[in-house]
Amino acid sequence: MTLSSDETVSKTDEEWQKILTPEQYRVCRKKDTERPFTGKYNDCKENGMYKCSCCGNELFDSNSKFESGTGWPSFFKPINDENIKCESDTAYGMIRTEVMCKKCGAHLGHVFDDGPQPTNLRFCINSVSLNLDKKNE
Ligand code: FE
Repeated sequence: MTLSSDETVSKTDEEWQKILTPEQYRVCRKKDTERPFTGKYNDCKENGMYKCSCCGNELFDSNSKFESGTGWPSFFKPINDENIKCESDTAYGMIRTEVMCKKCGAHLGHVFDDGPQPTNLRFCINSVSLNLDKKNE
């Protein structure tokens, strides 16, 4: 695996396989997609911070989550532009924008421009790429 210079958590495929579930490894490290409506955070309405399931980097606040009906947890913005990175993805004959964790390069999902106000963005993210750190309120 080639790492971009801005990634600060660097592990070999073998090391990732040891600490991730097989599904996390397939999605986060091999850019697979979980089946819609199967992920544990699709319907989740709890408050907290969604962090990268590979490295713990903070990615999305629950207050930016919305019901998209797509079957994947969806957010209208990341917690900031520094913790994620986006790259053009032309796999499967589609032109999409891939969303990754900037710290470890994990594949998170894709971003589309049909989201709600105020950003009009829809970050369509795999549940297995996330870990919700619940707020104690
Ligand atoms: Fe990460």
